[in-house]
Amino acid sequence: MTRSHELFLAAQKHIPGGVNSPVRAFKGVGGEPVFIDHASGAYMVDADGKRYIDYIGSWGPMICGHAHPEVIEAVREAAVRGLSFGAPTGLETQLADRVCELVPSMDMVRMTSSGTEATMSAIRLARGFTGRDKIIKFEGCYHGHGDSLLVKAGSGALTLGVPNSPGVPAALAEHTLTLDYNNADQVRELFARMGDEIACIIVEPVAGNMNCIPPLPGFLECLREVCDAHGALLIFDEVMTGFRVALGGAQALYQVTPDVTTLGKVIGGGMPVGAFGGRRDVMQHVAPIGPVYQAGTLSGNPIAMTAGLKTLELLSAPGFHDRLTAKTKTLVDGIMAVAKNAGVPMTSNQVGGMFGLFFTDQPTVSNFAEVGHCDTARFGRFFHAMLDKGVYLAPSAYEAGFVSIMHSDEDLQQTIDAAAAALAEL
Ligand code: PMP
Repeated sequence: MTRSHELFLAAQKHIPGGVNSPVRAFKGVGGEPVFIDHASGAYMVDADGKRYIDYIGSWGPMICGHAHPEVIEAVREAAVRGLSFGAPTGLETQLADRVCELVPSMDMVRMTSSGTEATMSAIRLARGFTGRDKIIKFEGCYHGHGDSLLVKAGSGALTLGVPNSPGVPAALAEHTLTLDYNNADQVRELFARMGDEIACIIVEPVAGNMNCIPPLPGFLECLREVCDAHGALLIFDEVMTGFRVALGGAQALYQVTPDVTTLGKVIGGGMPVGAFGGRRDVMQHVAPIGPVYQAGTLSGNPIAMTAGLKTLELLSAPGFHDRLTAKTKTLVDGIMAVAKNAGVPMTSNQVGGMFGLFFTDQPTVSNFAEVGHCDTARFGRFFHAMLDKGVYLAPSAYEAGFVSIMHSDEDLQQTIDAAAAALAEL
């Protein structure tokens, strides 16, 4: 019996499914989760001492690699001064200033402790600001597990087959209108019918919770245009894409500026952090200067702010995102080449340090329906073959992959070699 298996059995006694977030349970690929002992750089080491090249990176935050010495040292220094004060610190201002410098749409920002809180708060703000109830999201996009957003949701909700979760009141869900990602005509048509009832559109500017789907040319621009024409707010959920697809996030890459942006993952460098921010006149509706209530006991936590600040400092180094993008391209191109050699039909998407692999004979995958045509059983076999060979991919065909700046050329080549062997076995 492996140590991971023992830990998994023990975990299930008091933790539902033995995990504290569903997609960790390997439900999308079968088998049992690997329990992690420690991690460093591009690698994670499990409870049995096996090392993996990691392409999850804690689902995005570890863009500078695991346990980066400078981040750990900064956190260590911060920790001895106290873990939480429930009163403001200068660290919060430092991180807010830096975030507003980097992200084009942000004049003001409020810190939260998770991406879910950030999106939930952004939706409340949009409703409070516009005085309207209806929101638009896109099928297969995941914006955390706030009630209004668990409608046709992606990520673990999709992997587990509960995109519309029980427990969300129908009276609330009916205010969430869901359209097809990358379908600008649908957006225009819906706004033409009921534009004056819509508080906001929330969108992942690169969808990363139904595998990885970039926006088609014109899609984000269309969202900007209809929101402007109808007095609705445009929210970019950059919890995943923020500081990853470019230094200024997807809004900098595609040059479309939302009214409100949500952040998470990278902004906390591995500590629990989220944030929402945007136009000054919109953010001035947030308590205590405005009437829209939003709060958090641990929001702006000094350890989390410190990890975030150090991570943003590291990824602001000249050429960081060019190098990250090049590494990711090497990986994806390499895997596509070995798939071709093996005669396995595959397609890929990549934006910056984010990528998606699809087992399909379609040349492109650009919406949820097309993701649905991919061979998830084959992905499951590929996942396990890769895990066996020491490569840790996300345990679901509906998740994006992440590369860190610590992935070396040798790591990438080892991964491509592992993929060649795995694909030959399929
Ligand atoms: N939005 C997006 C785009 C995400 O990818 C996620 C998490 N995967 C969330 C929101 C929710 O963030 P958290 O898990 O920190 O609550």
